[in-house]
Amino acid sequence: MTEYNSRFQFQDFISYIEVVCPKCNAKAIVSGGKSNVRVEEYEKEVRFKCSACQYKIEYAKTPKFNTLIRLKKKRTLLLNLPVDPFFGFDLWCVLETPDGLLWAYNQEHLALIKKY
Ligand SMILES: [Zn+2]
Repeated sequence: MTEYNSRFQFQDFISYIEVVCPKCNAKAIVSGGKSNVRVEEYEKEVRFKCSACQYKIEYAKTPKFNTLIRLKKKRTLLLNLPVDPFFGFDLWCVLETPDGLLWAYNQEHLALIKKY
């Protein structure tokens, strides 16, 4: 447990991410993320859904980024930013604090961060 406390395993929280819907600004969900697995293996399960305005996106249908290194299309996750790693939508749980911006993927993640 002490190891866990010293370094947040943010990927443990990517299966359920609370984001701001880009269409109506309501709280929406990005689901289907998995930790410790390459994104190509689960991208078909990743989706955005807003229950307020019914806007939906399937991650597998979004364009992939080109990487010049292998000349092959590859997914790039947006990590360590206050946005979801798949679509880049703003996270719902973002707080301004004297120490800087605090952000979390969901309430559980936020509760954990606030403890320390
Ligand atoms: Zn919406």
